[in-house]
Amino acid sequence: MTIRVFLLCLLAVFAQTSRQPAEPSGLLIKNAQLIDGTGAAARRADVRVAGDAITEVGSGLAARPNERVIDAPGKVVAPGFIDMHSHADRGMDDTPDVATQVMQGITTAVVGQDGGSELPIVDFYERLARVKPAINYATSVGHGTVRKLVMGGDYKRAATAAEIETMKVLVDRGMRDGAIGLSSGLEYDPGFYSTTDELVALGSVVAKYGGIYSSHVRNENEGAFDAWREAIEVGRRNNIPVEISHIKLAVKPAWGRAAEGLKILEAARREGVKVMADWYPYTYWQSSMYVLIETRDWENRAAWQKGFDDIGGPQNVLITNYRPDPSYNGKTLAQIAAARGQNAVTTAIEMMREAGPGTGVIGTSMSEDDLTTFAKHPLVLICSDGSLSGRHPRGYGTFPRVLAQYVRGLGVLSLPEAIAKMTGRSAAQLAIPDRGVVAVGKKADLTIFDPATVQDRGVPGNAAQAPVGIAHVIVNGQVVLDDGKVTDARPGRGIKRGR
Ligand SMILES: [Zn+2]
Repeated sequence: MTIRVFLLCLLAVFAQTSRQPAEPSGLLIKNAQLIDGTGAAARRADVRVAGDAITEVGSGLAARPNERVIDAPGKVVAPGFIDMHSHADRGMDDTPDVATQVMQGITTAVVGQDGGSELPIVDFYERLARVKPAINYATSVGHGTVRKLVMGGDYKRAATAAEIETMKVLVDRGMRDGAIGLSSGLEYDPGFYSTTDELVALGSVVAKYGGIYSSHVRNENEGAFDAWREAIEVGRRNNIPVEISHIKLAVKPAWGRAAEGLKILEAARREGVKVMADWYPYTYWQSSMYVLIETRDWENRAAWQKGFDDIGGPQNVLITNYRPDPSYNGKTLAQIAAARGQNAVTTAIEMMREAGPGTGVIGTSMSEDDLTTFAKHPLVLICSDGSLSGRHPRGYGTFPRVLAQYVRGLGVLSLPEAIAKMTGRSAAQLAIPDRGVVAVGKKADLTIFDPATVQDRGVPGNAAQAPVGIAHVIVNGQVVLDDGKVTDARPGRGIKRGR
């Protein structure tokens, strides 16, 4: 190269370095109130992040060269929220920014719920490594998935001893691949047909690895207490933690009994069973239409009538997904029945015949009093039960709603207590000790929000509304939500048992 070209190159390099400052190396969050996830009161403290970890927590920390400063007066810095029961893995491949999760401050989602998971589990963690979503994911092994694989189409019965042994091998494989535990969905096929002894047998495998048993229990209606007792029994006989998923009392005859039911959990704790529950802050659930009928005799008019009576009438059943006629979506069963010129029972029976069990509904059937009782109880953690996109507002606003409604609005929860239910206590229950608390050495998963304005905005029929008031979200040291805007960063990781 000639001397002239060499000089030009040198000049170009010089211009490059002088024009662009080096990439910021690390973050300093200044002037926020720190709520550290342990339940301790808010205190003024700055938080320093380097790489993927929290490296310093203290007052009056001075910015270093090349450090990005997030100045957050009036805001709270808390651990990133951990969603104890999530379906936000569906569709993650198409939208790896998982914007609806990031915007509500979630940094870790626990999926593989209700008995359904990817299998083998190693495929799930490989998918995460490939897709690189913005948030962390942990997964359970799905009991229903395992059961279906072993029993095939012939699952409407108790499993044989040999089948249970084969299921145990599959659960063992999942736990070795890094699953955090076993999940069941006992209102759904094929878990509906399993015995308690089958679940206990599979729980014994989970026990070997220090995992957790989480359950969408057999009954969320008048039989809920027995269903909670069954979940606790799986924990007691295996000495493993138990998580009752999205705890609720979902029919009018069961309303007002939340405090009485929570005593069952308290008694189990006194006996040494590490049982907790998670809960979402809405009076309406989303599921398959057939769960309105506990007995599954879908042609039985009296059973449908009881289902409607229990929920307060067909106007409380909103159709979210009806494949034979999508124009039904967004209408209530009462409206559809009127349009068809039928009564609601006949309509429901005909819709089951036309679509099978796949029809999705939102059922408004919980009491605000019970919700508040669950919200306040120290054994109850927060979950969304939401998905990346969907027709229930929980997928968009669960965590902001807890902060807006139960902390700021009703005042039934202190802010540090609410945050502990979203972070530190959840991480402890899941045995992921390096997250959930703001302290030196922990992974830098952080959510910065304005406690005065944080608010969910989705409603049934218009669910997909971004919340407000969540300012910054940091996952493994990288900013995934910056001043309310989703960034291009994709730092999410697969979280495995004990890590
Ligand atoms: Zn569920």
